[in-house]
Amino acid sequence: MGKDRLSDAAIYRRGESITIWARVISVGLAFLALVLLWSSPKTRPLPALLNGVAYVVFAVGARAWVRRRPGSRRGVAVAHNVVDAAVVGLGAAFSGGLESPIWLLLYPHVVAVSVRGGLRYAMAIGALDALIVGALSLMTPSHPVGMLHVIAILFCAFTGGSTSAYLYEVQRRLFAANRELHSKNAQLVLAAARAGRADDEAREHLVREKEAALRLEELDRLRSQYLSNVSHEFRTPLTVIRGYGEHLLNEGPPPDGSLSDVMRVIVESCDQIIDMVDTLIEVSRIEQDGERSLEVRLLDLRELVASSVVPLRLRAARKGVELTLEMPEGPLAVRGDPALLDHLVRKLVDNAVKYSPPGSTVVVRGRDEPEAETLEVEDSGIGIAAEHIPSIFDKFYMVDGGLTRRRRGAGVGLYMAREIVKLHRGRIEVRSRPGEGSVFSVHLPRAGEGPAAPVARA
Ligand code: ADP
Repeated sequence: MGKDRLSDAAIYRRGESITIWARVISVGLAFLALVLLWSSPKTRPLPALLNGVAYVVFAVGARAWVRRRPGSRRGVAVAHNVVDAAVVGLGAAFSGGLESPIWLLLYPHVVAVSVRGGLRYAMAIGALDALIVGALSLMTPSHPVGMLHVIAILFCAFTGGSTSAYLYEVQRRLFAANRELHSKNAQLVLAAARAGRADDEAREHLVREKEAALRLEELDRLRSQYLSNVSHEFRTPLTVIRGYGEHLLNEGPPPDGSLSDVMRVIVESCDQIIDMVDTLIEVSRIEQDGERSLEVRLLDLRELVASSVVPLRLRAARKGVELTLEMPEGPLAVRGDPALLDHLVRKLVDNAVKYSPPGSTVVVRGRDEPEAETLEVEDSGIGIAAEHIPSIFDKFYMVDGGLTRRRRGAGVGLYMAREIVKLHRGRIEVRSRPGEGSVFSVHLPRAGEGPAAPVARA
Protein backbone atom coordinates (compact mmCIF):
# COMPACT_ATOMS: atom_id res chain seq x y z
CA MET A 1 0.00 0.00 0.00
CA GLY A 2 2.82 2.36 0.97
CA LYS A 3 4.38 2.06 -2.48
CA ASP A 4 1.16 3.06 -4.23
CA ARG A 5 0.61 5.92 -1.82
CA LEU A 6 4.10 7.28 -2.43
CA SER A 7 3.80 6.82 -6.14
CA ASP A 8 1.40 9.77 -6.34
CA ALA A 9 3.38 12.82 -5.18
CA ALA A 10 0.35 15.16 -5.20
CA ILE A 11 -1.64 12.98 -2.80
CA TYR A 12 1.39 12.56 -0.55
CA ARG A 13 1.99 16.31 -0.43
CA ARG A 14 -1.65 16.96 0.41
CA GLY A 15 -1.45 14.54 3.38
CA GLU A 16 1.74 16.21 4.52
CA SER A 17 0.21 19.69 4.40
CA ILE A 18 -2.85 18.48 6.39
CA THR A 19 -0.45 17.32 9.13
CA ILE A 20 1.53 20.56 9.08
CA TRP A 21 -1.62 22.69 9.24
CA ALA A 22 -3.03 20.55 12.06
CA ARG A 23 0.20 21.13 13.99
CA VAL A 24 0.33 24.87 13.29
CA ILE A 25 -3.31 25.31 14.33
CA SER A 26 -2.83 23.15 17.44
CA VAL A 27 0.23 25.10 18.51
CA GLY A 28 -1.54 28.40 17.80
CA LEU A 29 -4.59 27.35 19.83
CA ALA A 30 -2.37 26.07 22.64
CA PHE A 31 -0.52 29.39 22.87
CA LEU A 32 -3.85 31.27 22.76
CA ALA A 33 -5.23 29.07 25.59
CA LEU A 34 -2.07 29.72 27.59
CA VAL A 35 -2.47 33.47 27.18
CA LEU A 36 -6.13 33.24 28.29
CA LEU A 37 -5.30 31.02 31.28
CA TRP A 38 -2.06 32.88 32.14
CA SER A 39 -3.42 34.24 35.45
CA SER A 40 -5.75 31.30 36.31
CA PRO A 41 -4.99 29.77 39.73
CA LYS A 42 -4.55 26.28 38.23
CA THR A 43 -2.11 27.41 35.51
CA ARG A 44 1.63 27.29 35.90
CA PRO A 45 2.33 29.59 32.96
CA LEU A 46 6.13 29.52 32.75
CA PRO A 47 6.63 25.71 32.60
CA ALA A 48 3.69 25.59 30.13
CA LEU A 49 5.37 28.26 27.97
CA LEU A 50 8.70 26.42 28.14
CA ASN A 51 6.91 23.24 27.12
CA GLY A 52 5.32 25.01 24.12
CA VAL A 53 8.61 26.63 22.99
CA ALA A 54 10.49 23.31 23.35
CA TYR A 55 7.83 21.71 21.15
CA VAL A 56 8.15 24.36 18.40
CA VAL A 57 11.95 23.93 18.45
CA PHE A 58 11.52 20.15 18.20
CA ALA A 59 9.04 20.50 15.26
CA VAL A 60 11.33 22.83 13.27
CA GLY A 61 14.41 20.69 14.07
CA ALA A 62 12.64 17.48 13.00
CA ARG A 63 11.67 19.04 9.69
CA ALA A 64 15.24 20.17 8.99
CA TRP A 65 16.50 16.71 9.94
CA VAL A 66 14.15 14.98 7.50
CA ARG A 67 15.17 17.35 4.70
CA ARG A 68 18.81 16.32 5.13
CA ARG A 69 18.04 12.61 5.64
CA PRO A 70 14.95 11.72 3.59
CA GLY A 71 15.43 8.04 4.55
CA SER A 72 14.53 8.85 8.18
CA ARG A 73 11.19 10.45 7.23
CA ARG A 74 9.01 7.60 8.49
CA GLY A 75 10.79 7.22 11.86
CA VAL A 76 10.75 11.00 12.47
CA ALA A 77 7.03 11.16 11.57
CA VAL A 78 6.20 8.50 14.18
CA ALA A 79 8.39 10.25 16.79
CA HIS A 80 6.74 13.57 15.95
CA ASN A 81 3.25 12.18 16.45
CA VAL A 82 4.22 10.72 19.83
CA VAL A 83 5.86 14.00 20.87
CA ASP A 84 2.71 15.91 19.73
CA ALA A 85 0.58 13.83 22.11
CA ALA A 86 3.11 14.07 24.94
CA VAL A 87 3.42 17.86 24.60
CA VAL A 88 -0.36 18.36 24.63
CA GLY A 89 -0.60 16.03 27.65
CA LEU A 90 2.18 17.91 29.52
CA GLY A 91 0.76 21.30 28.51
CA ALA A 92 -2.66 20.27 29.84
CA ALA A 93 -1.11 18.80 33.02
CA PHE A 94 0.65 22.13 33.68
CA SER A 95 -2.47 24.21 33.02
CA GLY A 96 -5.27 22.53 34.88
CA GLY A 97 -5.60 18.93 33.62
CA LEU A 98 -8.96 18.24 32.03
CA GLU A 99 -10.07 21.73 33.03
CA SER A 100 -7.44 23.23 30.69
CA PRO A 101 -8.68 23.58 27.09
CA ILE A 102 -5.22 22.51 25.85
CA TRP A 103 -5.89 18.77 26.10
CA LEU A 104 -8.78 19.24 23.59
CA LEU A 105 -5.97 19.54 21.00
CA LEU A 106 -5.68 15.75 21.21
CA TYR A 107 -8.80 15.57 18.99
CA PRO A 108 -7.31 17.38 15.97
CA HIS A 109 -4.09 15.42 16.66
CA VAL A 110 -5.73 12.02 16.43
CA VAL A 111 -7.70 13.08 13.34
CA ALA A 112 -4.55 14.40 11.59
CA VAL A 113 -2.68 11.15 12.38
CA SER A 114 -5.50 8.89 11.27
CA VAL A 115 -5.87 10.75 7.94
CA ARG A 116 -2.41 9.59 6.88
CA GLY A 117 -1.43 6.48 8.78
CA GLY A 118 -4.13 3.89 8.16
CA LEU A 119 -6.28 2.07 10.74
CA ARG A 120 -3.62 0.31 12.79
CA TYR A 121 -1.42 3.38 13.16
CA ALA A 122 -4.43 5.62 13.98
CA MET A 123 -5.50 3.14 16.68
CA ALA A 124 -1.97 3.02 18.18
CA ILE A 125 -1.65 6.82 18.40
CA GLY A 126 -5.35 7.06 19.43
CA ALA A 127 -4.59 4.64 22.32
CA LEU A 128 -1.69 6.89 23.40
CA ASP A 129 -3.93 9.98 23.29
CA ALA A 130 -6.63 8.08 25.20
CA LEU A 131 -4.02 7.08 27.79
CA ILE A 132 -3.00 10.71 28.22
CA VAL A 133 -6.64 11.80 28.56
CA GLY A 134 -7.18 8.94 31.05
CA ALA A 135 -4.17 10.17 33.13
CA LEU A 136 -5.42 13.77 32.99
CA SER A 137 -8.87 12.63 34.04
CA LEU A 138 -7.34 10.83 37.07
CA MET A 139 -5.42 14.05 37.88
CA THR A 140 -8.67 16.06 37.71
CA PRO A 141 -11.31 14.44 39.91
CA SER A 142 -13.42 17.57 39.54
CA HIS A 143 -14.14 16.51 35.94
CA PRO A 144 -16.63 13.64 36.16
CA VAL A 145 -16.99 12.75 32.45
CA GLY A 146 -13.21 12.49 31.76
CA MET A 147 -13.36 8.79 30.96
CA LEU A 148 -16.01 9.43 28.27
CA HIS A 149 -13.37 11.46 26.35
CA VAL A 150 -11.18 8.34 26.32
CA ILE A 151 -13.93 6.50 24.45
CA ALA A 152 -14.57 9.51 22.17
CA ILE A 153 -10.89 9.76 21.23
CA LEU A 154 -10.67 6.02 20.49
CA PHE A 155 -13.79 6.36 18.35
CA CYS A 156 -12.21 9.31 16.45
CA ALA A 157 -9.08 7.22 15.82
CA PHE A 158 -11.16 4.28 14.61
CA THR A 159 -13.39 6.27 12.22
CA GLY A 160 -10.49 8.40 10.86
CA GLY A 161 -8.22 5.34 10.50
CA SER A 162 -10.82 3.14 8.81
CA THR A 163 -11.81 5.99 6.44
CA SER A 164 -8.20 6.53 5.44
CA ALA A 165 -7.66 2.74 5.08
CA TYR A 166 -10.71 2.62 2.82
CA LEU A 167 -9.43 5.56 0.77
CA TYR A 168 -6.02 3.89 0.43
CA GLU A 169 -7.67 0.74 -0.82
CA VAL A 170 -9.70 2.72 -3.37
CA GLN A 171 -6.55 4.49 -4.43
CA ARG A 172 -4.63 1.20 -4.72
CA ARG A 173 -7.32 -0.30 -6.92
CA LEU A 174 -7.39 2.80 -9.08
CA PHE A 175 -3.60 2.55 -9.49
CA ALA A 176 -3.89 -1.12 -10.42
CA ALA A 177 -6.70 -0.39 -12.92
CA ASN A 178 -4.68 2.49 -14.33
CA ARG A 179 -1.60 0.29 -14.72
CA GLU A 180 -3.68 -2.34 -16.48
CA LEU A 181 -5.15 0.30 -18.75
CA HIS A 182 -1.64 1.53 -19.57
CA SER A 183 -0.42 -1.92 -20.43
CA LYS A 184 -3.58 -2.65 -22.49
CA ASN A 185 -3.08 0.64 -24.26
CA ALA A 186 0.57 -0.22 -24.99
CA GLN A 187 -0.56 -3.61 -26.31
CA LEU A 188 -3.15 -1.90 -28.50
CA VAL A 189 -0.56 0.53 -29.87
CA LEU A 190 1.76 -2.42 -30.55
CA ALA A 191 -1.02 -4.39 -32.24
CA ALA A 192 -1.96 -1.36 -34.34
CA ALA A 193 1.68 -0.91 -35.40
CA ARG A 194 1.89 -4.63 -36.23
CA ALA A 195 -1.34 -4.45 -38.21
CA GLY A 196 -0.01 -1.40 -40.06
CA ARG A 197 3.21 -3.25 -40.88
CA ALA A 198 1.30 -6.30 -42.06
CA ASP A 199 -0.84 -4.05 -44.21
CA ASP A 200 2.25 -2.43 -45.76
CA GLU A 201 3.80 -5.83 -46.36
CA ALA A 202 0.62 -7.09 -48.01
CA ARG A 203 0.53 -4.02 -50.22
CA GLU A 204 4.22 -4.44 -51.18
CA HIS A 205 3.58 -8.09 -51.85
CA LEU A 206 0.69 -7.19 -54.13
CA VAL A 207 2.81 -4.68 -56.03
CA ARG A 208 5.59 -7.27 -56.42
CA GLU A 209 3.06 -9.85 -57.62
CA LYS A 210 1.67 -7.39 -60.14
CA GLU A 211 5.18 -6.58 -61.37
CA ALA A 212 6.01 -10.28 -61.65
CA ALA A 213 2.78 -10.88 -63.57
CA LEU A 214 3.61 -8.02 -65.94
CA ARG A 215 7.14 -9.37 -66.43
CA LEU A 216 5.72 -12.81 -67.15
CA GLU A 217 3.26 -11.33 -69.63
CA GLU A 218 6.06 -9.43 -71.36
CA LEU A 219 8.25 -12.53 -71.42
CA ASP A 220 5.40 -14.53 -72.84
CA ARG A 221 4.86 -11.95 -75.57
CA LEU A 222 8.57 -11.91 -76.39
CA ARG A 223 8.70 -15.71 -76.37
CA SER A 224 5.90 -16.07 -78.93
CA GLN A 225 7.46 -13.35 -81.03
CA TYR A 226 10.76 -15.18 -80.75
CA LEU A 227 9.17 -18.45 -81.88
CA SER A 228 7.64 -16.80 -84.92
CA ASN A 229 10.96 -15.07 -85.74
CA VAL A 230 12.95 -18.26 -85.36
CA SER A 231 10.52 -20.19 -87.54
CA HIS A 232 10.78 -17.45 -90.11
CA GLU A 233 14.59 -17.47 -89.90
CA PHE A 234 14.64 -21.21 -90.56
CA ARG A 235 12.02 -21.05 -93.25
CA THR A 236 13.84 -18.49 -95.45
CA PRO A 237 17.11 -20.43 -96.08
CA LEU A 238 15.22 -23.75 -96.18
CA THR A 239 12.91 -22.36 -98.88
CA VAL A 240 15.98 -21.27 -100.88
CA ILE A 241 17.59 -24.72 -100.53
CA ARG A 242 14.36 -26.47 -101.44
CA GLY A 243 13.78 -24.21 -104.46
CA TYR A 244 17.26 -24.77 -105.90
CA GLY A 245 17.16 -28.49 -105.07
CA GLU A 246 13.81 -28.93 -106.79
CA HIS A 247 15.05 -27.00 -109.81
CA LEU A 248 18.15 -29.21 -110.07
CA LEU A 249 16.00 -32.30 -109.64
CA ASN A 250 13.55 -31.35 -112.36
CA GLU A 251 15.83 -29.58 -114.82
CA GLY A 252 19.17 -31.20 -114.12
CA PRO A 253 22.41 -29.19 -113.81
CA PRO A 254 22.32 -25.85 -115.65
CA PRO A 255 24.18 -26.03 -118.95
CA ASP A 256 25.89 -22.63 -118.70
CA GLY A 257 28.24 -23.65 -115.91
CA SER A 258 26.35 -21.67 -113.20
CA LEU A 259 26.05 -24.81 -111.07
CA SER A 260 28.78 -23.56 -108.76
CA ASP A 261 26.76 -20.36 -108.09
CA VAL A 262 23.68 -22.47 -107.25
CA MET A 263 25.73 -24.68 -104.95
CA ARG A 264 27.25 -21.62 -103.25
CA VAL A 265 23.78 -20.23 -102.47
CA ILE A 266 22.76 -23.63 -101.08
CA VAL A 267 25.90 -23.83 -98.90
CA GLU A 268 25.39 -20.26 -97.60
CA SER A 269 21.77 -21.02 -96.75
CA CYS A 270 22.91 -24.14 -94.91
CA ASP A 271 25.52 -22.00 -93.08
CA GLN A 272 22.81 -19.60 -91.98
CA ILE A 273 20.79 -22.45 -90.52
CA ILE A 274 23.83 -24.02 -88.86
CA ASP A 275 24.74 -20.60 -87.44
CA MET A 276 21.33 -20.20 -85.89
CA VAL A 277 21.23 -23.72 -84.55
CA ASP A 278 24.69 -23.15 -83.05
CA THR A 279 23.52 -19.94 -81.40
CA LEU A 280 20.42 -21.59 -79.95
CA ILE A 281 22.45 -24.56 -78.69
CA GLU A 282 25.05 -22.22 -77.16
CA VAL A 283 22.35 -20.15 -75.45
CA SER A 284 20.72 -23.18 -73.85
CA ARG A 285 24.14 -24.65 -72.92
CA ILE A 286 25.14 -21.41 -71.20
CA GLU A 287 21.80 -21.12 -69.44
CA GLN A 288 21.87 -24.67 -68.18
CA ASP A 289 25.52 -25.18 -67.29
CA GLY A 290 26.83 -21.67 -66.62
CA GLU A 291 30.49 -21.72 -65.61
CA ARG A 292 30.53 -25.52 -65.63
CA SER A 293 30.28 -25.41 -69.41
CA LEU A 294 33.52 -23.46 -69.83
CA GLU A 295 36.68 -24.93 -71.32
CA VAL A 296 39.23 -22.37 -70.24
CA ARG A 297 42.49 -21.78 -72.10
CA LEU A 298 45.10 -19.05 -72.21
CA LEU A 299 44.29 -17.06 -75.36
CA ASP A 300 45.58 -14.15 -77.39
CA LEU A 301 42.51 -12.16 -78.42
CA ARG A 302 44.32 -10.95 -81.56
CA GLU A 303 44.54 -14.52 -82.89
CA LEU A 304 41.01 -15.36 -81.82
CA VAL A 305 39.55 -12.31 -83.61
CA ALA A 306 41.59 -13.00 -86.78
CA SER A 307 40.18 -16.52 -87.10
CA SER A 308 36.61 -15.61 -85.97
CA VAL A 309 36.11 -13.01 -88.69
CA VAL A 310 37.23 -15.29 -91.56
CA PRO A 311 33.75 -16.69 -92.29
CA LEU A 312 32.26 -13.18 -92.11
CA ARG A 313 34.63 -11.60 -94.60
CA LEU A 314 32.78 -13.09 -97.55
CA ARG A 315 29.40 -11.87 -96.26
CA ALA A 316 30.81 -8.40 -95.63
CA ALA A 317 32.45 -8.28 -99.05
CA ARG A 318 29.26 -9.30 -100.76
CA LYS A 319 27.40 -6.50 -99.00
CA GLY A 320 30.16 -4.04 -99.92
CA VAL A 321 31.15 -3.50 -96.29
CA GLU A 322 34.85 -3.26 -95.54
CA LEU A 323 36.03 -5.23 -92.52
CA THR A 324 39.31 -4.08 -90.91
CA LEU A 325 41.21 -5.18 -87.82
CA GLU A 326 43.26 -2.79 -85.67
CA MET A 327 45.28 -4.82 -83.20
CA PRO A 328 48.20 -3.82 -80.92
CA GLU A 329 51.74 -5.11 -81.31
CA GLY A 330 51.73 -7.05 -78.07
CA PRO A 331 49.44 -9.96 -77.13
CA LEU A 332 45.96 -9.47 -75.60
CA ALA A 333 46.16 -12.35 -73.14
CA VAL A 334 42.99 -13.58 -71.52
CA ARG A 335 41.80 -16.81 -69.98
CA GLY A 336 38.62 -18.01 -71.60
CA ASP A 337 36.63 -20.52 -73.58
CA PRO A 338 37.74 -20.18 -77.21
CA ALA A 339 34.47 -21.49 -78.67
CA LEU A 340 32.35 -19.07 -76.66
CA LEU A 341 34.61 -16.08 -77.28
CA ASP A 342 34.60 -16.96 -80.98
CA HIS A 343 30.79 -16.86 -80.86
CA LEU A 344 30.90 -13.50 -79.12
CA VAL A 345 33.19 -11.93 -81.71
CA ARG A 346 31.26 -13.39 -84.62
CA LYS A 347 27.95 -12.17 -83.18
CA LEU A 348 29.16 -8.60 -82.70
CA VAL A 349 30.83 -8.43 -86.12
CA ASP A 350 27.86 -10.12 -87.81
CA ASN A 351 25.48 -7.52 -86.30
CA ALA A 352 27.82 -4.68 -87.31
CA VAL A 353 27.86 -5.92 -90.91
CA LYS A 354 24.14 -6.66 -90.85
CA TYR A 355 23.17 -3.15 -89.73
CA SER A 356 25.77 -1.26 -91.89
CA PRO A 357 25.05 0.20 -95.32
CA PRO A 358 27.14 -0.85 -98.36
CA GLY A 359 30.31 1.15 -98.74
CA SER A 360 30.82 1.62 -94.98
CA THR A 361 33.54 0.13 -92.80
CA VAL A 362 33.39 -2.12 -89.78
CA VAL A 363 36.44 -1.92 -87.52
CA VAL A 364 37.40 -4.55 -84.94
CA ARG A 365 39.84 -2.95 -82.53
CA GLY A 366 41.90 -4.56 -79.77
CA ARG A 367 43.37 -2.56 -76.88
CA ASP A 368 45.56 -3.44 -73.97
CA GLU A 369 44.14 -1.20 -71.22
CA PRO A 370 45.33 -0.82 -67.63
CA GLU A 371 42.36 -2.64 -66.13
CA ALA A 372 41.45 -5.12 -68.87
CA GLU A 373 41.90 -6.36 -72.41
CA THR A 374 39.36 -4.55 -74.57
CA LEU A 375 37.74 -5.42 -77.89
CA GLU A 376 35.70 -2.86 -79.79
CA VAL A 377 33.47 -3.49 -82.79
CA GLU A 378 32.64 -0.21 -84.49
CA ASP A 379 30.28 0.36 -87.40
CA SER A 380 28.80 3.39 -89.13
CA GLY A 381 25.41 1.77 -89.63
CA ILE A 382 21.85 2.59 -88.61
CA GLY A 383 22.69 2.96 -84.90
CA ILE A 384 20.35 2.36 -81.97
CA ALA A 385 17.95 4.89 -80.43
CA ALA A 386 18.71 5.77 -76.78
CA GLU A 387 15.44 4.30 -75.47
CA HIS A 388 16.34 0.84 -76.83
CA ILE A 389 19.91 0.72 -75.53
CA PRO A 390 19.05 -0.51 -71.99
CA SER A 391 17.07 -3.46 -73.45
CA ILE A 392 19.09 -4.72 -76.40
CA PHE A 393 20.99 -7.23 -74.21
CA ASP A 394 17.69 -8.71 -72.99
CA LYS A 395 16.58 -12.08 -74.23
CA PHE A 396 14.31 -11.97 -77.32
CA TYR A 397 14.60 -8.19 -77.56
CA MET A 398 14.58 -6.74 -81.04
CA VAL A 399 14.56 -3.01 -81.66
CA ASP A 400 11.75 -3.03 -84.17
CA GLY A 401 9.94 -5.90 -82.50
CA GLY A 402 10.48 -8.05 -85.56
CA LEU A 403 7.45 -6.56 -87.29
CA THR A 404 9.20 -4.35 -89.80
CA ARG A 405 12.42 -6.31 -89.67
CA ARG A 406 14.19 -6.82 -92.92
CA ARG A 407 17.36 -8.38 -91.54
CA ARG A 408 17.95 -11.82 -90.14
CA GLY A 409 17.95 -12.33 -86.38
CA ALA A 410 15.94 -13.79 -83.54
CA GLY A 411 16.76 -11.37 -80.72
CA VAL A 412 19.03 -13.69 -78.74
CA GLY A 413 22.43 -12.70 -80.18
CA LEU A 414 23.26 -9.86 -77.81
CA TYR A 415 21.71 -11.71 -74.88
CA MET A 416 24.12 -14.58 -75.57
CA ALA A 417 27.01 -12.10 -75.99
CA ARG A 418 26.29 -10.60 -72.58
CA GLU A 419 26.02 -14.04 -70.92
CA ILE A 420 29.38 -15.10 -72.42
CA VAL A 421 31.05 -11.91 -71.19
CA LYS A 422 29.50 -12.39 -67.73
CA LEU A 423 30.83 -15.96 -67.54
CA HIS A 424 34.30 -14.53 -68.22
CA ARG A 425 33.82 -11.94 -65.43
CA GLY A 426 33.99 -9.14 -67.95
CA ARG A 427 31.61 -6.41 -69.04
CA ILE A 428 30.03 -5.35 -72.32
CA GLU A 429 28.70 -1.93 -73.20
CA VAL A 430 27.51 0.03 -76.21
CA ARG A 431 27.70 3.61 -77.43
CA SER A 432 25.42 4.41 -80.32
CA ARG A 433 23.61 7.19 -82.17
CA PRO A 434 20.83 6.57 -84.66
CA GLY A 435 22.09 7.18 -88.21
CA GLU A 436 25.73 7.46 -87.13
CA GLY A 437 26.67 3.95 -86.02
CA SER A 438 27.47 1.92 -82.93
CA VAL A 439 30.50 0.84 -80.91
CA PHE A 440 30.21 -2.35 -78.82
CA SER A 441 33.05 -2.68 -76.25
CA VAL A 442 33.95 -5.88 -74.41
CA HIS A 443 36.32 -5.71 -71.41
CA LEU A 444 37.81 -9.01 -70.25
CA PRO A 445 40.15 -9.53 -67.26
CA ARG A 446 43.78 -9.94 -68.24
CA ALA A 447 45.20 -13.45 -67.85
CA GLY A 448 46.74 -13.77 -64.37
CA GLU A 449 45.05 -10.57 -63.12
CA GLY A 450 41.79 -9.50 -61.64
CA PRO A 451 39.28 -11.98 -60.28
CA ALA A 452 39.95 -15.69 -60.49
CA ALA A 453 39.49 -17.21 -63.92
CA PRO A 454 36.26 -19.16 -64.40
CA VAL A 455 36.26 -22.81 -63.36
CA ALA A 456 37.32 -25.11 -66.16
CA ARG A 457 35.26 -28.16 -66.99
CA ALA A 458 37.02 -31.38 -65.94
P1 ADP B 1 19.19 -10.11 -83.65
O1 ADP B 1 19.70 -11.52 -83.63
O2 ADP B 1 17.74 -9.99 -83.94
O3 ADP B 1 20.05 -9.17 -84.39
P2 ADP B 1 20.46 -9.24 -81.25
O4 ADP B 1 20.25 -9.69 -79.87
O5 ADP B 1 21.76 -9.56 -81.88
O6 ADP B 1 19.24 -9.75 -82.11
O7 ADP B 1 20.27 -7.67 -81.25
C1 ADP B 1 19.16 -7.09 -80.63
C2 ADP B 1 18.76 -5.81 -81.33
O8 ADP B 1 19.82 -4.87 -81.23
C3 ADP B 1 18.55 -6.01 -82.81
O9 ADP B 1 17.18 -6.22 -83.08
C4 ADP B 1 19.05 -4.74 -83.44
O10 ADP B 1 17.98 -3.87 -83.71
C5 ADP B 1 19.95 -4.10 -82.43
N1 ADP B 1 21.39 -4.15 -82.84
C6 ADP B 1 22.31 -5.05 -82.49
N2 ADP B 1 23.52 -4.74 -83.03
C7 ADP B 1 23.34 -3.60 -83.71
C8 ADP B 1 24.20 -2.74 -84.50
N3 ADP B 1 25.53 -3.04 -84.66
N4 ADP B 1 23.67 -1.65 -85.05
C9 ADP B 1 22.36 -1.35 -84.91
N5 ADP B 1 21.48 -2.09 -84.18
C10 ADP B 1 21.96 -3.20 -83.60
